[in-house]
Order: sequence, then C-alpha cells, then structure tokens
Amino acid sequence: MTNMGEKAPFASNPFIKTIATNLAQVEDRIQAACRSAGRRREEVAIVAVTKGRSPAEMAGAFRCGLQALGENRIEELEAKRPILEADIAPGRPEWHVIGHVQSRKAERVAASADLIHSVDSVRLAERLERAAATGGRRLPVLLQVNVSGEASKSGFAAQTPADREALLEIIETLRGLPHLDIEGLMTIAPLTPESGLVRDVFRRTRMLLEHIREIFPDREWAVLSMGMSGDFELAIEEGATLIRVGRALFEPLLRRGDTA
Ligand SMILES: *Cc1c(COP(=O)(O)O)cnc(C)c1O
Repeated sequence: MTNMGEKAPFASNPFIKTIATNLAQVEDRIQAACRSAGRRREEVAIVAVTKGRSPAEMAGAFRCGLQALGENRIEELEAKRPILEADIAPGRPEWHVIGHVQSRKAERVAASADLIHSVDSVRLAERLERAAATGGRRLPVLLQVNVSGEASKSGFAAQTPADREALLEIIETLRGLPHLDIEGLMTIAPLTPESGLVRDVFRRTRMLLEHIREIFPDREWAVLSMGMSGDFELAIEEGATLIRVGRALFEPLLRRGDTA
C-alpha cells in the first residue's frame, strides 16, 4: 500500500541508522538512571540538541521519534527550519531555544520558539513579553540559573542566599508579565570530570526549584532542564525532567564517559 506524498523514511534518510542506534543507548542510560533514582521513565523527556547538525540529520532524529529539537542560535534555527519542516511535513517539531538570547533578538525568538530554556535577565523577559503580546500568544519559558557562581555561565545568579533572595524578587516581577508562562528552571553544569561537583550543581538547582515552588505555589514549576550527553544520568538522579542531548545522539562512536 502506498501513501501519496509520504516519504519512505527509513530508506531515504542516511542518518537514521546511527541516530536509532545512539538513541537506543541513550534510552538504556535514561532507564538505568530512572531505576537507580526510583523515578518513572515518563518523568524524563529528551530535547535533541541540533546545533551544528544539518536539516537531514534533524529529519532523521525526528523520524526516530525525537520531536523536540533544541538550537542555540536563532539564526541557525531560522535557516534550517523551512528545510526541515518541508522534509517532515505534515509533521512538525517542537522548537526549543537553549542558548543565550540577546534582547534585541527577542522578537525573532518569540516567533519561533515553543519553549525558551534560557531566559537570564529581566530585560530579556520583558522583550519576550512584548513580542508574545504583539503576537497574541503565550510563551513558555524557563529561567536559566547559575548555582555554581561559574563566571563563564550565564543565568540568574543563585549561588549565595542573597542571590537566591534576589532571584525570588525577580520572579515576583516576572510573574507580572501576562504572556510568559514560566514553567521551571534550566541549568548547565560545569564541564569537569569531578562528578561530585556536577551532581552538587544539579541537586542545588532542584532544591532551588522546590523552594520557588513553595514560595509561588500558584504555578506548577514542573520543568527542570538539566543534563547533557556527558552528565544526564546525574541530572536524572537529581530530578531533571528535560535533558538536552546532542553528541550522544548524533555522533557515531561516542561512548559514555567521553567528554567534549
Ligand atoms: C550543546 C548544548 C547541549 C548538548 O550538549 P551535548 O554535550 O552535545 O549533549 C545542551 N545544552 C546546551 C545549552 C548546549 O549548548
């Protein structure tokens, strides 16, 4: 039986084999982490991070069931989007913006993103609010936080008790922006082989989310975006609900424990 207009996905996309193999390994790792943490598999979702990947690789990922795609740069997202969406039509990915967003690009990001992980300033949030209001839609966002004080990381400072008090004030302000749905927090762990440090960052981010949930119980605060190819087991064990995975899905021979 043929279906007019439908592409033969597994024959036509040269990346599917690698991605499917990698995804099976990622899936095993996720399940092992869920088991060790006593969590249910359904509590953890994957964002396939596609920065630097071609539209054909992205189509391969989509056809393997990875429907949430994460990009760092709006220019790259905008360039690849029409090519990918033509390839997978009538399917449509969920677009996640995971990198730092310059305020002057807020309009473009608001127009494309289904979830922005990386809101890291009041100024950006206000620009996104205006763009969402103009577009007549609500915009789901996460607040990126930096609990480690690493200077290289963007995100709202959340290392010291004073930082965290200030963050609560900021959240109070952001709650007044009617078109932004603040769904949770995102963090990036330091790039270090010391897993104890990484785990500590994830744990402190989860505790911060729990604290925020107590202070502002009128929202769910359901999303905790943390964990990448090299550290997502730790993130899952510490409560991640969304992991952002690039290399482990797209690179042919990456094995656990490899670092960038
Ligand atoms: C690149 C990137 C990832 C994915 O990293 P991998 O090591 O390739 O899994 C996740 N989150 C952010 C913010 C990124 O920039």
